[in-house]
Amino acid sequence: MKIVTLPSGERVPACGQGTWYMGDDRAIRAEEIATLRLGLDLGLTLIDTAEMYGDGRAEQLVAEAIAGRRDEVFLVSKVLPTHAARHGTAAACEKSLKRLKTDRIDLYLLHWRGNVPFAETLEALMALQSAGKIRHYGVSNLDLADMRELWPVAGGAAVATNQLLYNLARRGIEWDLLPWLRERRVPVMAYSPLEQARLLRNAKLAAFAKRHGMTPAQAALAWLLASDDVIVIPKCARRERLKENLGALDHALSAAQLAELDRLFPPPTGPRPLEML
Ligand code: NAP
Repeated sequence: MKIVTLPSGERVPACGQGTWYMGDDRAIRAEEIATLRLGLDLGLTLIDTAEMYGDGRAEQLVAEAIAGRRDEVFLVSKVLPTHAARHGTAAACEKSLKRLKTDRIDLYLLHWRGNVPFAETLEALMALQSAGKIRHYGVSNLDLADMRELWPVAGGAAVATNQLLYNLARRGIEWDLLPWLRERRVPVMAYSPLEQARLLRNAKLAAFAKRHGMTPAQAALAWLLASDDVIVIPKCARRERLKENLGALDHALSAAQLAELDRLFPPPTGPRPLEML
């Protein structure tokens, strides 16, 4: 498995598993759990979830999937901005730990910016870290201005990631946010790498994939995996698709293929406000 190194030096797989909407439909629950477990078998040991997903149902499903295998997993969860005050963060984390049936979260993210001052959320995250309830903390959906504001606050420069919407159709962060994070060695966690499956119906991507002997999902993921400091967290609820997606790791894109994708999905030519889903 390709590896990305966090600022702490800890190594995590460059490809993990998303869980948004998992646990919502009882009819496919068993397959969702089987898919996450197969992912663990195949090296996709980073699992991304959040208290928001299904009001905790995704975390409960993750608990089932990782039962007996906790030590294999790098577990990421998120606190809602409405819970991100001092006591609210601690309470939200406690509830996530209960749902996840574990004593620690490996990486705990502020899901997006709300009204609580960064200083207060960071203080709460640092307290959770000292207590051993979380091992690392980070942020999500923070634009450049937010990151600039966060960085000088106590604990701000210790964020382990900024989880962002990033895929071939959403390249805005390449203009300024991604270079800023790179300078500070903060890896990006790319969410919705398949644009929630919409990219797979893109004719340009389909033609590219066909020309180069891969599927559209593999091409979209291989493009993100071509960067050394991007962690990709596709979500899939079916074992067959998971195996297909893993094939992206066998398709390291050449410079010529990357240039072709730049022509098909051009990088930004100026600043754009951060997009989020
Ligand atoms: P995504 O990973 O881009 O796409 C997921 C969709 O693609 C699902 O409908 C899935 O279907 C389908 N899919 C996956 N592999 C496929 C394949 N090989 N062929 C056809 N369809 C395929 O979207 P996402 O779930 O929004 O993003 C991934 C994860 O990022 C989330 O699950 C969540 O953990 C995280 N996220 C974070 C934020 C944030 O604000 N921080 C926002 C959005 C997402 P099935 O599931 O039916 O297989």
